[in-house]
Amino acid sequence: MADQDTVPPTRDEVLETYAKQGATAASEFAGVSKRTVQRWAASEAVTSGYKAPIIRMCPSAASYARGCRCEGCVVANREAQREIKDRRISRFRQGGVQINHGVSGYSNWNCRCELCRSSWSNYLRGRRNHVG
Ligand SMILES: [Zn+2]
Ligand SMILES: [Zn+2]
Repeated sequence: MADQDTVPPTRDEVLETYAKQGATAASEFAGVSKRTVQRWAASEAVTSGYKAPIIRMCPSAASYARGCRCEGCVVANREAQREIKDRRISRFRQGGVQINHGVSGYSNWNCRCELCRSSWSNYLRGRRNHVG
């Protein structure tokens, strides 16, 4: 121990790290357990302003929302969107939602009433005419 030339960080330094970067960083810095860091912090009445970021990593719809367009996130987002749509549609089926029948009723709500079906086929015909 005597010939070790690295000086272990002082408790103050550790607590400073704790305050700035959180318990995990401080415990790595000090080479002690997180529990020890927290005990020191409690005895010195130091609180950490650091909040561990709750970030869902790839692949996830949350990561897609942050701008990631990797394959996994695209798929996760598509599934999340489909779930949202499914929930919406089942609310509508249970009579909980009033909708505007027509193109949006057909595509957004999977409504197949006469008005929605005819609006939808008109819409498709219009689109084809635009393209052709
Ligand atoms: Zn991603
Ligand atoms: Zn309808």
